[in-house]
Amino acid sequence: MNRQELISIFETFLRKHNYTRFDLKAVLFDMDGVLYDSMPAHAKSWKQTMDEIGINNSPEEFYLHEGRTGESTINILFQRELGRKASKEEIEKIYARKTELFTRYNEGKTIPGAKEVLELVKRKGLTPVLVTGSGQPSLIDKLNDNFPGIFSRDTMVTAFDVKKGKPHPEPFLMGLEKAGNLKPNQAIVIENAPLGTEAATKAGIFTIDVNTGPLSDEMLKKSGAQIVLHSMKELEENLPDLLEIARVVKIE
Ligand code: MG
Repeated sequence: MNRQELISIFETFLRKHNYTRFDLKAVLFDMDGVLYDSMPAHAKSWKQTMDEIGINNSPEEFYLHEGRTGESTINILFQRELGRKASKEEIEKIYARKTELFTRYNEGKTIPGAKEVLELVKRKGLTPVLVTGSGQPSLIDKLNDNFPGIFSRDTMVTAFDVKKGKPHPEPFLMGLEKAGNLKPNQAIVIENAPLGTEAATKAGIFTIDVNTGPLSDEMLKKSGAQIVLHSMKELEENLPDLLEIARVVKIE
């Protein structure tokens, strides 16, 4: 995309949301598939868990459900394959097995370029905020190990903070609040999944997707992504220009 096309994407977004300009203060980052290369382990664990109890599934569908709560994902498959919701006991058992397998398969690898993007955001004077549906108890320690000095408990929205997970806008609205009671035109979102993109878009925030998984770019655009890139390295290369454009575009 050339500069003129990018300017036009930003302007169209401002018009659509009745903003006159951006006033960027924060960048809200999704975690799985954006900062950590954890989605293949999530998909593999879900698939094996469902295979074990004889629930028909496709490996790709778990990428579509990314961001949903475990309960919601289980109920979607139960409803489709068995024509009923799962019981509370079934949900607990299935989710425990999925978590057990994920712990086994997940290697904790970060996405190449993620650290550089986070550091660049900080250098530009913007606040990086984490917005994830994940509820791992030791998340802050893990983040501090991999991305030292970037996130604190005050700049994280996790499964423990929200009542409604993605695709509801609540996690991103809470992210704006934690970033200092910001308005939607004071932040941008970095996402990789359709439901997260939908949530950010419903919150009125300009969303850049980094397509690190098997889904099509088209699917992410349909969910509301303004720009779709293909790696965090590509985002790192383009972010200075994108931030500069966001600084100068105005609707008269
Ligand atoms: Mg994600």
